[in-house]
Amino acid sequence: MSESGDTRVYVCPRCVTPYGEPGTCLTCHVELVECRPGPEGDPLRKPLMTGDGKLLTHAPGWWVRRTAAGLFERRVKK
Ligand SMILES: [Zn+2]
Repeated sequence: MSESGDTRVYVCPRCVTPYGEPGTCLTCHVELVECRPGPEGDPLRKPLMTGDGKLLTHAPGWWVRRTAAGLFERRVKK
């Protein structure tokens, strides 16, 4: 696995503020969610699209996978 493939970011599930380290959000005081965006150019870094090319989410795929796994599975498994 490449080094960039193991990049981790920690994101507040409420206000979506990214942090470089695990912990709690300074604003919301909720626990941060650990995400792995994947290497540069990974399709997961882009928003999810439907089969016919429409934008499904504005959030990148790695965020959807982490926070709405059911939605992600339905869209990406095809
Ligand atoms: Zn927050």
